[in-house]
Amino acid sequence: MATVLFENARVFDGVSADCRDGVAVLVDGERIVEISEVPIIAPQARRIDVAGRTLMPGLIDLHVHAYASDVSAARIDLADTAYRTAHAVRMLGHALDCGFTTVRDIGGGDWSLARAIVDGIIRAPRFFYAGKIMSMTGGHGDTRSMAESQHIHGYCSCGSMNALCVIADGVDECIKAVREELRRGAHCIKIMGSGGVASPTDPLWMNQYREDEIRAMVGECTERRTYVAAHCHPTSAIRRCVDFGVRCIEHGTMMDAETAEFVAERGAYVVPTLAIGFALIEAGPALGFPAVSQAKLEVAFQSSIEGLRHMRHAGIKLGFGTDLLGATYVQQCREFTLRREVFTPLEILRQATSTSAEILMQDGELGCVREGAYADLIVVDGDPLADIDLLAADGANVPLVMRNGEIVKDVLTA
Ligand code: ZN
Ligand code: ZN
Repeated sequence: MATVLFENARVFDGVSADCRDGVAVLVDGERIVEISEVPIIAPQARRIDVAGRTLMPGLIDLHVHAYASDVSAARIDLADTAYRTAHAVRMLGHALDCGFTTVRDIGGGDWSLARAIVDGIIRAPRFFYAGKIMSMTGGHGDTRSMAESQHIHGYCSCGSMNALCVIADGVDECIKAVREELRRGAHCIKIMGSGGVASPTDPLWMNQYREDEIRAMVGECTERRTYVAAHCHPTSAIRRCVDFGVRCIEHGTMMDAETAEFVAERGAYVVPTLAIGFALIEAGPALGFPAVSQAKLEVAFQSSIEGLRHMRHAGIKLGFGTDLLGATYVQQCREFTLRREVFTPLEILRQATSTSAEILMQDGELGCVREGAYADLIVVDGDPLADIDLLAADGANVPLVMRNGEIVKDVLTA
């Protein structure tokens, strides 16, 4: 692998507001090996003059579904594997060009797609995946309409399953389903902890899974030295999931002040996903988002900006997520603009780099510019600490992207 020397960079390290100017960063193979304010002598290296632009960690999106080829869960299932994979290729390539060097696929993504990425068959960010999401029968992961009975959807006979989720009920089934996903290399386990927007038969306010089921799944993850992430909208679900050992809450749209304090006290994380909410509020009907879901969407997301204020006030550590489905994948960078309503650029930059890396249990390895860390780096034309919208332009201000030491986008030196 090549040696690359970035020169004359303004470095944001993923944490500190004090960016240093005139910095040289040496990358050897897949790692950052030296960072210096005096010139680095590396005759064998390819030299790239950053010319005072910002060099920062590649962005991390913790809530994607690469296989979610449609806004309708039922149509994702009917699309079949090749179509879903084609969508994954399209959305992951777009993410990379926007500056995302890592994604966490929090439902549906699998070892096969991960291997295609590692083998370089497709252009994509680093790919952590949760495998299939655990859902109870009639829960947020059960995409069947009332009219359908079991197994008429081509579900396998050993348990109900669709493109993104597996249906597991009771402690024994839950444990078996979790073990199966971990066997297939899942980075973490995702569970449906409350009702959701896109599912046809469950109310949004409903808490899902019993305490013994959640604790059993958390226990399996603890033994595997990983964690459970839970989809939750209402505060009751957020509170009980965190109480039962869930480490990371997804969405958390209806967060109130009291619940935010509780989550912060317990040291759990939240990954808000505003992009999908606002994308579908605007474009849902035109994209064929089911009417019943559109109504739930407005309830779930009407308080989501206010929810962010409660999270900020309580000091919850937040990851960066988008949750975009189907054709809305192009709105990934809009999350920066939406969070700007509540957070400073520095806070948003930390969310999209160092804090998201911490949630991935990759602190010091990803989401930082540090000697010894993986060389996942982007060049930004301008200062994102002063203007976060630089990152909201779909990669237009990100002329160079390096992932794992390899330059995967370059309109800077070309
Ligand atoms: Zn969800
Ligand atoms: Zn999701």
